[in-house]
Amino acid sequence: MEIREFLERDLRPIADDYWDRAEFPVHLIPEVGRLGLLGPVWPETKRFENSALYRGWVALELARVDPGFATFVGVQNGLTMGAIGVGGSPEQRAHWLPPMATGEVIGGFGLTEPLSGSDTARGLRTTAHRTGDTWVINGAKRWIGNATFADVVVIWARDTADDQVKGFLVRGGTPGFTATKIERKQALRSVQNADILLDGVEVSEADRLPNIRSFKDVAIVLRLTRAEVAWQAVGLAVGAYEATVRYALAREQFGKPIASFQLVQDRLARCLGNITAGIAMCVRVSQLLDEDRQGDEHSALAKAFTTRTMRETVALCRETLGGNGIQLDHGVARYMADAEAVFSFEGTYDMNNLIVGRAVTGIAAFV
Ligand code: FAD
Repeated sequence: MEIREFLERDLRPIADDYWDRAEFPVHLIPEVGRLGLLGPVWPETKRFENSALYRGWVALELARVDPGFATFVGVQNGLTMGAIGVGGSPEQRAHWLPPMATGEVIGGFGLTEPLSGSDTARGLRTTAHRTGDTWVINGAKRWIGNATFADVVVIWARDTADDQVKGFLVRGGTPGFTATKIERKQALRSVQNADILLDGVEVSEADRLPNIRSFKDVAIVLRLTRAEVAWQAVGLAVGAYEATVRYALAREQFGKPIASFQLVQDRLARCLGNITAGIAMCVRVSQLLDEDRQGDEHSALAKAFTTRTMRETVALCRETLGGNGIQLDHGVARYMADAEAVFSFEGTYDMNNLIVGRAVTGIAAFV
């Protein structure tokens, strides 16, 4: 209840304007930390016992109000703290996780590259070359969330010695590290995505994540965050649906609320069906994680299914608002635009379905 109050009181009234200006409401970060939403999993930062189911519902609530804000939390908490939690030494975890949980330290997760998105497992080109206790990193990253103001970015790079992907904690401001905001985005506009250049960036061996030995370990982090993105997709759909029900009851045509027309009710029922099925699937995937039985294919199936139905839902909502559906002030346009990014990040719809297909057939169609 406290989380919902915070979101309705402090975030909802400003979300459209921050989206429109392509700015992020950084002043809200300490409150998110105070509510315990950053790092609820790790022993170093957990404020109270919680389950994957609880964390999933929180992701839904965040995206229901602002998918951009949910994405910030996902990058800080799921991807970056997840990478440090899964791959870091006890010293690294103790150093980074507590200040990230309060929001004093902001993180980013640098995997995608200009020339490598879906194929990062094989196509990653950024290199890390070790000389003594120093690694020298060269390459480029694209789309990296929070990177314009992050204190630390986990950079994934290929070790020139053994060709395996390794993770490095690169502090903002390190010589050779440049993050440039990606402008003119038409989805998740409040999220500060950056192009990163790494030109001879030096990182000490103490800042390499020792428990990341290959891309398989990166995939563990992605599996965990993907399930939460599935919850976010449902939350996004709920946000658009709620605005649409309100609008349909208030808007009159032919002397009646448009909500009284059968075709409008059909659309609302289809939206509710999508949302309900999405919640059911997400609940099951979170239960599997709580039982330590979640596989890559479970979170991939949930991400693919909920983002596909989310896209249909926001389109039905937009349609129901007529012309006002494309304007920010009526509560649906932002969700419709943001849905396009959620559909494609953390593994595109296709890649997630191919992960499921591999589990079903035993044949990997994407290598
Ligand atoms: P591509 O890989 O070029 O794909 C283009 C199309 O080809 C897609 O439809 C895809 O499904 C299809 N395709 C590719 N390969 C196959 C295949 N084998 N079979 C069938 N179809 C295929 N990355 C980070 O590292 N950190 C972040 O913080 C981050 N945040 C992001 C935030 C936003 C708003 C966005 C848009 C992206 C973000 N990303 C981030 C990157 C994101 O993960 C990638 O965009 C995503 O993985 C897809 O890569 P791509 O955009 O290069 O598309």
